[in-house]
Amino acid sequence: MDSYCPNCQKLLDAAIAVGGSGSPRSGDVTVCVYCGALLSFGVGLRLRVLTWDEVLALPLDVRQRLAVVQQVAAEFQAERARRS
Ligand SMILES: [Zn+2]
Repeated sequence: MDSYCPNCQKLLDAAIAVGGSGSPRSGDVTVCVYCGALLSFGVGLRLRVLTWDEVLALPLDVRQRLAVVQQVAAEFQAERARRS
């Protein structure tokens, strides 16, 4: 996987499966570890930012897991900023 976050333009060269497992597939959702944007994989694993309506349409357990990943990403970035 080698895609750029459409929100912050950082290179995302890895993904963590929030729901399911294995390699990302078209339609899967993920979180940018740099900016916390909620993203969806499209054709050719190109990423796009989810719309608010798409986020609200996700199952509650998926939204809860995405929120946890966003929190972890924010803590990672805060720690990184403290060390630089
Ligand atoms: Zn981003």
